[in-house]
Amino acid sequence: MKIAVDLHIHSALSPCADDDMTPNNIVNMAILKGLDAIAITDHNSCDNVKAVMKVADGRILVLPGMEVQTKEDVHLLCYFEDTKDLLDFDGYIRHFMSQVPNVPHIFGNQYIMDQEDQIIGERKELLLSSVDLSIEQVVQLAVQRGGVVVPAHIDRPSYSIISQLGFIPSNLGFSVLEFSKFDTNYTMYYQGFKHIYSSDAHQLGQILEREMLIDIHDVSLTGIIQWFKNYTVI
Ligand SMILES: [Zn+2]
Ligand SMILES: [Zn+2]
Repeated sequence: MKIAVDLHIHSALSPCADDDMTPNNIVNMAILKGLDAIAITDHNSCDNVKAVMKVADGRILVLPGMEVQTKEDVHLLCYFEDTKDLLDFDGYIRHFMSQVPNVPHIFGNQYIMDQEDQIIGERKELLLSSVDLSIEQVVQLAVQRGGVVVPAHIDRPSYSIISQLGFIPSNLGFSVLEFSKFDTNYTMYYQGFKHIYSSDAHQLGQILEREMLIDIHDVSLTGIIQWFKNYTVI
């Protein structure tokens, strides 16, 4: 069955995202846009994932995720079927975070919210910075916990595996690559991988409509994770 997804969305926890990227606004906008599944992928943190899942309450699938910035300045999307595994991953990542404080009036707010969109906390360290872990280490940590890792926006000139390394390392088991736009003139260079397109929304209006469809057997988080894991090139 084909489902419409947008698996790269930032909440108000990411300093660069709008403050109105609240759990309720994200879920309601995604439903309005006709999506079947979304993922919350804040920079180096997952503190708003649970609130978004609670708000969704089965109306739309919410894949637990995080966008980690490795020490090579590469953005990797890490997805987990189970929030417990994501929280465990997050607990490890925290030890390798830069302790540079956020300056909200320069970088933006880093709000932690509950399911009523109430601000219940704020992350003090700047989340939009590299963690002291390599690409290989992040992949290993995610895979050990049953997660999948997707190099983010590889068609962008910064913070992408191509901008930083110039190639996709073959030893890390990447099978899916994320693009920020559909451009067959570019994606044709990456045959042998599945391709996914996401909004990387930092504002509500940027969330995708029914543009990116994936074909899964079982409409569930397990089904989505299996889609990432099954190496069937399309
Ligand atoms: Zn990114
Ligand atoms: Zn992003």
